[in-house]
Amino acid sequence: MFGEIKGLNEECGIFGVFGHPQAAHMTYYGLHALQHRGQEGAGVVVSDGVDLKQSKGEGLVTDVLDEDELISLSGYAAIGHVRYSTSGGKTAENIQPLHFRSSTGSLALAHNGNLVNATKLREELEETGSIFQTTSDTEVIAHLIKRAGRGPIMDRIKQALNELEGAYAIAMLDEKRLIAALDPRGMRPLSLGKVGAGYVIASETCAFDVVGAEYVREIVPGELVVIDDEGIHFDTFSEAKNRSICSMEYIYFSRPDSNVDGQNIHSVRKRLGKKLAEVSPVEADVVTGVPDSSISAAIGFAEQSGTPYELGLIKNRYVGRTFIQPSQALRERGVQMKLSAVKKIVEGKRVVMVDDSIVRGTTSKRIVKMLKEAGASEVHVRISSPPITHPCFYGIDTSNSGELIAANNSVEEIQKIIGADTLSFLPIEHMVNAVDRQDASPNCGHCLACFTGKYPTDLYEDSLPPHEKEKLIGVRS
Ligand code: AMP
Ligand code: SF4
Repeated sequence: MFGEIKGLNEECGIFGVFGHPQAAHMTYYGLHALQHRGQEGAGVVVSDGVDLKQSKGEGLVTDVLDEDELISLSGYAAIGHVRYSTSGGKTAENIQPLHFRSSTGSLALAHNGNLVNATKLREELEETGSIFQTTSDTEVIAHLIKRAGRGPIMDRIKQALNELEGAYAIAMLDEKRLIAALDPRGMRPLSLGKVGAGYVIASETCAFDVVGAEYVREIVPGELVVIDDEGIHFDTFSEAKNRSICSMEYIYFSRPDSNVDGQNIHSVRKRLGKKLAEVSPVEADVVTGVPDSSISAAIGFAEQSGTPYELGLIKNRYVGRTFIQPSQALRERGVQMKLSAVKKIVEGKRVVMVDDSIVRGTTSKRIVKMLKEAGASEVHVRISSPPITHPCFYGIDTSNSGELIAANNSVEEIQKIIGADTLSFLPIEHMVNAVDRQDASPNCGHCLACFTGKYPTDLYEDSLPPHEKEKLIGVRS
């Protein structure tokens, strides 16, 4: 989120609409609300009932689509995608939705998540003659659908989905219908909404608010939702398995105004911050949060501890893709791009700096330094999640344990590396309780693999990055 100071990025966002005369425009606004989930590429595919048309490109939604483009994409159904590549590389052909034409018609796909058996499936498909146009694992799904015989499309889709392992929230569009599917563990969020006589689906409910849609419900694990001229049909392609929604959705990814599984993200994060203040209190003068994702947790920490919340850090929002990155020399002379410490607020103060997570440790280290340079007398770092000790293979860009500071260092060592006066993380049982407000149990409904190393799916050797193979094969919760 912070350009130069954050080394990692978010996953993807999907949006779909059926039964609206300005489907492309709706998708544009929906994707814009999901922009925080991926800034590398964006795309829309529209159906007018006869044909599919597409527009996609690298960059932000506003870079890729303009009014003329949207007007030319006339139709009453559409799907869209904002991308951050966590598999398949950054090349332009991997930008979604992927759009396939065949003698039997067209199909477009937009996918959020990662398949853990994509390499195996791709090899099997290639051995039997499939030729791939992209390196994205999403294309595997299209080939599996095509391969699944000559039966009705919905049967072929079900058969294909049952071959996938991993995390997937998918929107599909053909000439006549919009289809949404969620993996049997529900690892990614996907919601259904209603707009006028039509329907929308989105990775996050914040996209419903901007298009004036009303939230209907979450799409449930293993479910297939089909929307066409006759209405909406609910079906299942697989029995639901142990629910494993990504806990990082609550901690970091989702927008604070979104609701996941009926829980408002800002409220969950506030509870995480409150619990953190309870279990790791510290004498201090001010509490500040790292904008934007940690503000809610910092407010919770301040409320619980009675230490005032202050704007000790300010983010400049207007750093676009083309902003010229300061050279190392300029950076050393104090040129900072996105984040600044507010001197008058932190000078001479004991500051609690709340962040939602530490991945590589780069952000915390820079911010502690920044606060100290601005005159803070002490900086106490409080993290509203447990240490991230294991890589993610489900669509979050933390697939290299060598880069995870907590995989390789103790909390005391991390404290020294980042230069904090004290450092605490939120213990996992408190995190689960704060998200769920229930007792933590092994089947609490969340994926916790990056904190525990207990992966909810099998891991396939062929699909793991080479550096992780030895460490992880055979690991499962
Ligand atoms: P790092 O600087 O590598 O320790 O990253 C931690 C910071 O990045 C925190 O401020 C988080 O808000 C944010 N963050 C956490 N997970 C991710 C992710 N997968 N992609 C981008 N930023 C993240
Ligand atoms: Fe989310 Fe972590 Fe599980 Fe990946 S491993 S899906 S980031 S909880």
